[in-house]
Amino acid sequence: MSDAGSVDTVFVLNAGSSSLKYQLVQPESGTVVAHGVVERIGESEAKVVLVRGDDTKEFIGEIADHRAGLAKALELSRVQDRDLTSEGITAVGHRVVHGGPKFYKPTVIDDDVIEAINELEDLAPLHNPVNVLGIEAIRELLPDVPSVAVFDTAFFHGLPDHVATYAIDRELAKKHDIRRYGFHGTSHEYVSGVTAEFLGADRESLNQIVLHLGNGASASAIEGGRPVETSMGLTPLEGLVMGTRSGDVDPGVVMYLRRSADMDVDQIDTMLNRKAGLKGLGGENDFRALTEKVEEGDADATLAYKVYVHRLRKYIGAYMVTLGRTDAIVFTAGVGENAPKLRADSLAGLESFGIQIDPERNAARSREPRIISTDDSAVTVLVVPTNEELAIARQSVAALQG
Ligand code: ADP
Repeated sequence: MSDAGSVDTVFVLNAGSSSLKYQLVQPESGTVVAHGVVERIGESEAKVVLVRGDDTKEFIGEIADHRAGLAKALELSRVQDRDLTSEGITAVGHRVVHGGPKFYKPTVIDDDVIEAINELEDLAPLHNPVNVLGIEAIRELLPDVPSVAVFDTAFFHGLPDHVATYAIDRELAKKHDIRRYGFHGTSHEYVSGVTAEFLGADRESLNQIVLHLGNGASASAIEGGRPVETSMGLTPLEGLVMGTRSGDVDPGVVMYLRRSADMDVDQIDTMLNRKAGLKGLGGENDFRALTEKVEEGDADATLAYKVYVHRLRKYIGAYMVTLGRTDAIVFTAGVGENAPKLRADSLAGLESFGIQIDPERNAARSREPRIISTDDSAVTVLVVPTNEELAIARQSVAALQG
């Protein structure tokens, strides 16, 4: 049990439209007590997984909604009369995608906050309403435990005005809160902090480019701990090529499709968000599956890979100029942590920019932060595993302690 004022475990929830990921974590040590997923919510063949130590439990069957999925996870965790809720859960931390102009700090959730997150639906129609489903489900299951919302946009709230501003009509932009918000902020903040610690450097003295390459992908330039650029914008669609998202396209493409291909706005939205990126070009949104096709000589997959690498290099170049001096380039998330060839290709031939990858270091596998550049490389290149759940847990505790 927890003493007054101390926190034992935090239940971290990342809710999507038909799936959710959860983790029970001890925020100080980072020890994961349990974690799992609920997939295909709303279907008769839904899947609930609970992993606790070496023990994995699975349920396949009907899961009507997010609440039922979480209730099933708790049920799977029951041993005699104890389940996960007996682990001294003192906070629930929610990943909330869009904080809009209003939320830029971890926020203790009450009815007004839920309403305000819902009101941001226009800005994040794919994300915020499902985040609220997760919040409401947990409130029903753990009514006495306080919940905190941690926003994916928060870290980038302080982007300089000239970086956050689109060159469009200012009144219109103001009226509709149109600006570059940036996403994956929890990961960029966490990874840049771990990098500074790992290098034994002051955060304030380090200029970094962080490349978060997962299903979604984003880059950031961080100067002395403060973000000065990031690749995502009003929505998580801008920037790098992603699993199913296009990243940057000429906005003229949207008008052209509307006028000339007779597509309505929802069809264009679906095409750019769900049928583009690696999937749209190479038939696979999963990077591993895509690279297998590349190795088999598949021409579409090869083009997709090249487009992905080209865009990444373009952003790295731009951010090196933005920073003026780059001390570290950091790869993180599923692709960044696990795809050595991609890392090598994205920084190949940049010796004159002070970047030299050590092939052996780059090929080594590890779950720990590590340097993959040579000792002579002026820019230190690293792989630093992200841990958004731990960051959310810690921020939730801090928010509750005021
Ligand atoms: P999410 O954005 O859902 O958190 P992740 O950070 O888990 O995504 O990244 C998922 C991506 O990482 C997938 O495209 C997957 O193929 C890729 N990935 C995971 N392991 C490897 C690997 N060993 N080699 C190449 N890519 C990998």
